[in-house]
Amino acid sequence: MTNILIFLGPPGSGKGTQAEKISEKFQIAHISTGVMLRDHVDRKTDLGIKAKSILDEGSLVPDNLVIEMLKDRLDSDDCKNGAILDGFPRTLPQALSLENDEKFSIKSVIFFDVNQEELVKRMLERGRSDDTEESIKVRLQVYLNETEPLVGFYSKKNLLTEINALGSVDDISSSISELINL
Ligand code: ADP
Repeated sequence: MTNILIFLGPPGSGKGTQAEKISEKFQIAHISTGVMLRDHVDRKTDLGIKAKSILDEGSLVPDNLVIEMLKDRLDSDDCKNGAILDGFPRTLPQALSLENDEKFSIKSVIFFDVNQEELVKRMLERGRSDDTEESIKVRLQVYLNETEPLVGFYSKKNLLTEINALGSVDDISSSISELINL
């Protein structure tokens, strides 16, 4: 059984930065589906070729493709101590795919709360190739429609803890560390 910690929150909320720190501190894997997909695009794999235009416009890659990619990744040896999922699940079907698989045990879901103005500012500053103003708008809208409902979904299961993601990187990291018992 693989223990799972989910980092949930809008694009630009700092999930990736925190996942990196927490992964190191607790020696658990950090899995970012965004990083994995961009890597497929760079390597021009079949998945990468399908995903490129979707990533550029800020929409979501189809559930079946992302779910398959993620489950393969979770099978690796380095996930034995557990894994932080950063950017997955982003839709209800993705959440259900974890829920309905006995191999995984979701220990906790951390929700990164940040206001929208700050998100746009952060994303424009980091200047990734999919961080154009147009794609940012789409991603925030997709987040509100598809991903935000997962806050209620996990909260009903008593798995959700909300953190204020506006402080310093170290302060936020300490608050997350206190919540972790894998
Ligand atoms: P951000 O940091 O802006 O949230 P990510 O690096 O997590 O961005 O993801 C970048 C892009 O990769 C998304 O806009 C989306 O197109 C795709 N993507 C990442 N994770 C998923 C997922 N779980 N389901 C569908 N598409 C995904």
